Amino acid sequence: MGTPYVFNVQRFSLHDGPGMRTAVFFKGCPLRCPWCHNPESQAFKPEPMADGDGRVETIGRRYSVDELMEEASRDIIFYDQSGGGVTLTGGEPMAQDIDFMFELATGLVRRGIAVGVDTCGVAPTSAFERMADVAAFFLYDLKFIDSRLHRKWTGASNSLVLRNLQRLAQLHATIYLRLILLDGINADSATIRQTMEWLRENNIDAVQVNVLPYHRFGMDKFARLGRKATEFRAPSDETLERIRHDIEEFYPHVTVGG
Ligand code: SF4
Repeated sequence: MGTPYVFNVQRFSLHDGPGMRTAVFFKGCPLRCPWCHNPESQAFKPEPMADGDGRVETIGRRYSVDELMEEASRDIIFYDQSGGGVTLTGGEPMAQDIDFMFELATGLVRRGIAVGVDTCGVAPTSAFERMADVAAFFLYDLKFIDSRLHRKWTGASNSLVLRNLQRLAQLHATIYLRLILLDGINADSATIRQTMEWLRENNIDAVQVNVLPYHRFGMDKFARLGRKATEFRAPSDETLERIRHDIEEFYPHVTVGG
């Protein structure tokens, strides 16, 4: 596959895992979620996107492993103080050239920088097995437990997502499970309980469950890419509170919101 494209390197991030982190956003994702916060992450190649003033710029460029290591090493003192590190995100980092990703992750870990991986789970199981050796944790999205709904809304079945989650659990990886909730689609107690039952039956040991209510963050970006945006509804606070209780019956550590 070769050197991946990166569309953003974000320093001082507090939303991509524990502590203060540098998030490296890789360009390219096998899914097409219409609520995606970063739709410029979906294509595996650079593409034009208008900025807020209508000026068009090209999104995505190649970085070498060394360049990314240098960028990430700038804030090593903050990682140490805060328990942070680097998060590989996107897009889908696990769907990139896995030799590149493994070399990057291994290099960072050798410098004493903890590496997290933010994933939708759609990538070869062998890639997860390899990365589980070096990654401190996985932020793992489980969008729909129902494969039909997963295919309808993301463009692909959830079979790989579930299989890779099972495999990471077998390997005792540290998993932060992330559930995106869309009102009227998957934000109801029956769906949550079905999801939780599956997780329990499959011995998925998540250290935390992060509930992520839908947000329209990405809509403006779809427009700036010249693509049609779809609006969903966020669950109410009351629904989110009920869902939190549903999850707490299975997992004690639940957070709601980004
Ligand atoms: S999996 Fe994530 S990055 Fe990929 S399209 Fe969906 S929301 Fe966007």
